[in-house]
Amino acid sequence: MGKPDLLIVGSVGLDTIHTPAEKVEHVLGGTAVFASCAASYLCNAGIVGVVGDDFSWDYEALLKDKRVDLTCLERAPGKTFFWEGAYADDMNERATLDTQLGVFADFSPKIPDSHRSVPFLFLGNIHPQLQLDVLNRMTDAPVIAADTMNFWMTDTLELLKQVVRRVDIMLVNDSEAKQFTGKTDVLTAADAILGMGPKMVIIKKGDHGAMLFAKKQIFVVPAVPLRTAKDPTGAGDTFAGGMMGYLAKMGKCDFTIMRQAIVMGTVMASFTVEDFSVNRLAKVDGAMIKQRVDLIRELTAFEDIRL
Ligand code: AMP
Repeated sequence: MGKPDLLIVGSVGLDTIHTPAEKVEHVLGGTAVFASCAASYLCNAGIVGVVGDDFSWDYEALLKDKRVDLTCLERAPGKTFFWEGAYADDMNERATLDTQLGVFADFSPKIPDSHRSVPFLFLGNIHPQLQLDVLNRMTDAPVIAADTMNFWMTDTLELLKQVVRRVDIMLVNDSEAKQFTGKTDVLTAADAILGMGPKMVIIKKGDHGAMLFAKKQIFVVPAVPLRTAKDPTGAGDTFAGGMMGYLAKMGKCDFTIMRQAIVMGTVMASFTVEDFSVNRLAKVDGAMIKQRVDLIRELTAFEDIRL
C-alpha cells in the first residue's frame, strides 16, 4: 500500500455506552476509528493518533483488515483514550459521563515525509492543539475538513477558532453550531462559521439529516430512515469519513462533488447506528452501499410540480 490519499487525526479509544435498551463496555471507538473505517471503502485512509499499551491487538488487527494505514498510529505506555456516554430515550440527546484523554494528554504526532503531502486531511474531533499540530506538519496544502464537539468549546475555544479559520470544510452538529457562534438558528450559525474562513460548512442534525452550506448555495440530505437504530455513537465521524473518503476518491472538492460526498457520508453513518462500535460498519460491501445511495435518491426525487 502506498501513502494514504486521506489522513485522519482523531481519537482511537474505548467507549462505554448506555442506550435505553443496552449497555456495552470498553468497545472499540474514537473519531479516527469510525472515520477511517468508513473511508476505507472509498480510498486509502491513514490514522494519526495514539493508543495505550492496554489497547487490544484484535482492534488493531480489525483496522489493518480494513486496509487502514497505521504508520502514524503510535502505541505509548499508558492508558488508551476512554469515553463514556449515555443516551436519553430520544437518541438524538446524549450526555458525556466520562472522558479520559489517557495517552492523548501529551501526544505529539510523528508524521513521516511520505505522509505529509497527502491531498486530503480530516481533523477529527480531538484537542484543537493536536488538530493544529497535524495541520502545521502538512506540506502540500491538502483539502482540509475538521469536526469538533462542545467539549472543546470552553477551555480550548481560542484554539478551536484558529482551526476553523484554516480549514476548507467545517463539520459541526446543530446544537454545537449554535453554542460555538452564539446564534439561535442553524442558518445564521452556518453563515457565522462561513464568515470565519471555511468555504463550506456542514451542519449535522442526527436522524434529521445534514445541511451543506457554501457562500451562496445550500444542499440538504435526509438521514436514511431506519427502524433498526441501536447506537448513534460515531455516526458523525462515520459521516465525515464517508464524505472525505469520497472526495479523496474523486480527487476534488467542488460543490457538485460535495453534494455527492454528503450523500455518501449519510449512507455510511446509517450503517454505524445499526450496531455498537464498528460492528456493522466494518462488514458492509459495495452492493449494500449502493442500495442505500439509491434509496436516498428515491427519497429526494420528485416530478415537476404543475403551478
Ligand atoms: P460522535 O458520536 O460522532 O460524536 O463520536 C463519538 C466518538 O467520539 C466516540 O467513539 C468517542 O470515543 C469519541 N469522543 C467522544 N468525546 C471525545 C472527545 N472529547 N475528543 C475526542 N473524541 C471523543
